Amino acid sequence: MLYQSTRSEHRVSDTAAILEGIAPDGGLYIDPKLAERPFDWQGCLTLPPLGMAERILSHLLPGFANMGALVRRAYEGKFESEELTPLRKVGDDFVLELFHGPTAAFKDVALSMLPQLVTAARGQEGVKDRIVILTATSGDTGKAALEGFHDVEGTGILVFYPDAGVSPVQKAQMVTQAGTNVKVCAVRGNFDDCQTGVKRAFAALTGDALPAGCRLSSANSINIGRLAPQVVYYFIAYAELVRRGEIALGDKVDYVVPTGNFGDILAGYFAKLMGLPVGTLVCASNANRVLTDFLETGVYDKRRDFLKTASPSMDILVSSNLERLLFLASGGDTALVADCMRKLSAEGVYRFPEEAMARIRGDFAAGCCNEEDCLKTIGRVWKELGYLCDTHTAVAMKAAQDYKCAQKADRKTVVLSTASPYKFPAAVLKAIGGNTEGDEFAQMERLAEIAGVPIPRGLRGLKERPVLYRDVIDADAIVEYVRQQLN
Ligand SMILES: *Cc1c(COP(=O)(O)O)cnc(C)c1O
Repeated sequence: MLYQSTRSEHRVSDTAAILEGIAPDGGLYIDPKLAERPFDWQGCLTLPPLGMAERILSHLLPGFANMGALVRRAYEGKFESEELTPLRKVGDDFVLELFHGPTAAFKDVALSMLPQLVTAARGQEGVKDRIVILTATSGDTGKAALEGFHDVEGTGILVFYPDAGVSPVQKAQMVTQAGTNVKVCAVRGNFDDCQTGVKRAFAALTGDALPAGCRLSSANSINIGRLAPQVVYYFIAYAELVRRGEIALGDKVDYVVPTGNFGDILAGYFAKLMGLPVGTLVCASNANRVLTDFLETGVYDKRRDFLKTASPSMDILVSSNLERLLFLASGGDTALVADCMRKLSAEGVYRFPEEAMARIRGDFAAGCCNEEDCLKTIGRVWKELGYLCDTHTAVAMKAAQDYKCAQKADRKTVVLSTASPYKFPAAVLKAIGGNTEGDEFAQMERLAEIAGVPIPRGLRGLKERPVLYRDVIDADAIVEYVRQQLN
């Protein structure tokens, strides 16, 4: 029973944690002993990317038989590059490109693996029920989950996205998804409304309320099976820096992470707990700076306007995975975590104790980038360094720049790049002074001409594909909608 809820002593095996997604008490599953269990991180660095993935995932999820086969099935032939996540030198820094999977967003790294973990867990646990994946998406998770789960035997997938909160490209990617076990639905509201509705559905549809023969699970980063695969690319980047002679083995490296739900950056913290010499993890937020304020003040306060920005996948006010960090930073104080989460849901605000905040600040720094600086950064990086980045990556680029200005430490910096610039062509074109006429699909073509880099496979010909889903519902109708789909 390696995994424990962040809100109680409730424990389950890793396979069960992945099938359940979220603990019955509303907490998130975590391995409280991760930092104590020995891991040969140095031995891991000499392996090729898929070998590294096998070692790391076997350590995080030791209950799975045959992890090597699962890893190969998840990644082989699906990513454009054998390196999986190529590391590019851009100016003095390094950009880790996480977007070379089937949907051109970093979520592919985790969501290619999750269906393998879910089906393997189902087999090992002897579960006959169909596992229905419920997902709230700010744009990228939805498509990556659909790509991962469509037509996977024994599973179903149901995706909710904010009607006016995703880009036309993101929407087209989702509503054109074929598959016999797939359903996609728009919600009137923002991402937090979708996420809250989905959490309500999980809470309401348990036991007798669930139709026979099915169970629910999650593809959001509340599922530990989403986080575990993300740990791998922190190692890939580090190994690459050693291999190129940019650092010596053991040197610390700072990672700057464009953050929304705190999943990606938390995976970096897991890598650190496993021994990887991670220096500071810089949490880069857009104008929805709820995490910046939390790291600075120790007060998490979601009572503020939800801003729609050019980096929509980071437009989040309730950052779910922070709960796991609260658990670790408080030394596993489940009562404290449960109390904070109760306050957040009832009052919209909580304060985290100062000693624990000090511990968090030892590992994490905060950076924030407003809309104007986001576009300016894309323009500057393109003009000065010849590198085209998307709006999310730009937020991290700006945070990296600010962090380095403020620090004296002369460490190598890796900026995580979470999406292809072609996913957000309007903003990127505007930023580099290109002509923004026409729809996003025309803009994508124009961007390709300017940049001279081909449009990723998964984004080509999107406009011509038939639209398969047209439902639009209110957020408080999500539970009922799910119930109907399960019958
Ligand atoms: C999801 C997403 C993020 C934020 O990642 P979290 O794990 O939620 O912090 C950043 N950029 C892009 C492009 C994303 O899709």
